[in-house]
Amino acid sequence: MSTLNVYLADLPGAVRYPAPLRRTVQRFFDLAIQHSKFGNAVVQWTSRKPALAPSDLMVYFVEGPEDSVVKELTKNLGPSGTTYIGQQVASEVYLGGHGFTPTAETLGKLAIHELMHNVTKMGESLHRVPGVSIGKESISSETEPSSADTKLVGTRLGIRRRQWEKGFTIYNDPLR
Ligand SMILES: [Zn+2]
Repeated sequence: MSTLNVYLADLPGAVRYPAPLRRTVQRFFDLAIQHSKFGNAVVQWTSRKPALAPSDLMVYFVEGPEDSVVKELTKNLGPSGTTYIGQQVASEVYLGGHGFTPTAETLGKLAIHELMHNVTKMGESLHRVPGVSIGKESISSETEPSSADTKLVGTRLGIRRRQWEKGFTIYNDPLR
């Protein structure tokens, strides 16, 4: 049984409560892997480009759309996060600009939402999958994962995909 690695990348170093955010994402993947070939999931923070196995996942955190790294790939940014789906897949979550201060748990759920797009390679159609909760277009601090969320992700976790890894280099480019 293999391990699924999920990397959380705080590019500006601005995440205030990393532990509860990580736990929220870990709890989701603990449930999702029950529908997969993976024996366990390890969700961890990283400050540098990790060595990614083919099914591993990564999500960047940036200050807001103006601080985006995914804008290198698409101009079509979402209000709270963006996932670009192409030859490579890139996900990011916005720490600010929501009109309210999101809790660590809410930021974790926004990361799960973007990773749901990433894993399924589904665009807007994700929001309309019957039974999804965190997969819906709009989520709040009260939104809890449904069995449809964890099953949808779990059954697709083994699909090979390539995470876009240039976020670190682009973010740290002094000419950016
Ligand atoms: Zn979405």
